[in-house]
Amino acid sequence: MAMNASSHPHRRTLADSDPALFELVQREESRQEDNLELIASENIASLAVRQAMETVFTDKYAEGYPGKRYYGGCEVVDEVEKLAIERLCQLYGCEAANVQPHSGASANMAVYFTFLEPGDTLMAMNLAHGGHLTHGSPVNFSGKLYKIAAYGVDPETELIDYDEMHRIAVESKPKIIVSGATAYSREFDFKRIKEIADEVGALHMCDMSHYSGLIAAGEYPDPVPHCQVVTSTTHKSIRGPRGGMILGTAEAIKQINKTVFPGLQGGPLCHVIAAKAVAFGEALRPEFKTYAQQIKKNAAALAAALTQEGFRIVSGGTDSHMMLVDLRPFGVTGKLAQEVLEHANITTNKNAIPNDPESPFVTSGVRLGTPAVTTRGMVEADMAFIARAIATVLRNHSDEGTLNKVKAEVTELCRRYPIHKF
Ligand SMILES: *Cc1c(COP(=O)(O)O)cnc(C)c1O
Repeated sequence: MAMNASSHPHRRTLADSDPALFELVQREESRQEDNLELIASENIASLAVRQAMETVFTDKYAEGYPGKRYYGGCEVVDEVEKLAIERLCQLYGCEAANVQPHSGASANMAVYFTFLEPGDTLMAMNLAHGGHLTHGSPVNFSGKLYKIAAYGVDPETELIDYDEMHRIAVESKPKIIVSGATAYSREFDFKRIKEIADEVGALHMCDMSHYSGLIAAGEYPDPVPHCQVVTSTTHKSIRGPRGGMILGTAEAIKQINKTVFPGLQGGPLCHVIAAKAVAFGEALRPEFKTYAQQIKKNAAALAAALTQEGFRIVSGGTDSHMMLVDLRPFGVTGKLAQEVLEHANITTNKNAIPNDPESPFVTSGVRLGTPAVTTRGMVEADMAFIARAIATVLRNHSDEGTLNKVKAEVTELCRRYPIHKF
């Protein structure tokens, strides 16, 4: 007897077909709902972005690029990828783009593999001063394959020392200079870095992963006019699905395309590219500028309130969505702070501060960011509350009663700004 459509096992909902996994989804929804997400690299994708990710595009193989695929049946996904690229180029005013990288790390890998040979010199920000794993960490492919020349911040001001960067560039003659960072709250002088790169014959690549949402909205300096190549994640401040992207001159992207496919990847994640297109569409709307402005207002308010509570903000403040908090005035390490804050439903990550006396596993700081709480709708007054909650937890970190009390208050704040359950 033929099954009717709704009884076909392939049409069962997740809840019906796999209760164990469904329960985990619900647990994660509740966790996100009741926790203050202050991890600077996280955000909350819209329902539209998530719906694009659950479409039938996940089924499609589309090795190659629009119009030049190795599989049949690509006429619809061609339109999806073209739409993503078109919106991305409109958003950043770039000539060309590749939206296929599966992550930020693989976007960076594609650029390095295009323009460097093993043993060449790559210049990027010192990891201990805010650079990313893929900017030359000895445990990452970047640090294993290339000679690394690192630039960093001035020990006094904790701002990038461009004269020193210039000196190191002249001395080490890198083939690529990477700007951008994962834990630097201030503005990069992209024009100055391009001048240094030009002088030593290097390519300037900005890894704007952290700042891409602010840049799209004109709320952070624009690297695009000063770079041959710009890479980014798509899931941080730009608020898309988890993934990567590469923008650049038509000439650079033509070369990079070959590295992404067939050099590094097989089929693109068509459903994720669809969701990237949705996110870029959202970022083109005027509301996104308001959102980006509020991210910065919230970060400034949080930094000011934390300073009032007695914390030291690295470099004295922030020009972006994030800040590094020096915890030494409170006599706690980053590791302890991350743990006890988590007890009070405040999610953060420990992070080394420049010239940190503690090991990278312990650290003296936490990194905080406002993209996710701003997506929930929180404003400056909430940041003052959050700063007080953080200070209360860290002043009373071994007092369970206080931790529970703060947890209750944090949960109440979160419930005033629901995410999934409205
Ligand atoms: C997050 C980040 C990446 C890596 O992104 P993944 O998607 O986690 O691979 C690369 N560079 C910078 C600067 C980042 O902040």
